Amino acid sequence: MAEPKSQCCRTVYTGYCSHKCQRAGTVERDGAFYCKQHDPVRIKEKDELKNKKWEQERLKRDERWKRESILCDLANGIPTDELECYELVLKGS
Ligand SMILES: [Zn+2]
Repeated sequence: MAEPKSQCCRTVYTGYCSHKCQRAGTVERDGAFYCKQHDPVRIKEKDELKNKKWEQERLKRDERWKRESILCDLANGIPTDELECYELVLKGS
């Protein structure tokens, strides 16, 4: 005999009211059933992935800011037209 389908235990809020999630609970976590969307493990993994991506973007931003700051300090006191000459040489054109 097939087991009765369990319903997802999460409450869904839609504007002013809330109701129980209507989806079937496909995974069991600590005795409670969750649908794929409300699976706490999946949500945690998604959050961690998002945080990792944000952290990488933040590091990239920090790196760019650091480089710009160093270049700005190095260029300090050098006339702009001279800097443009350096830029042309460095770019090889
Ligand atoms: Zn659900």
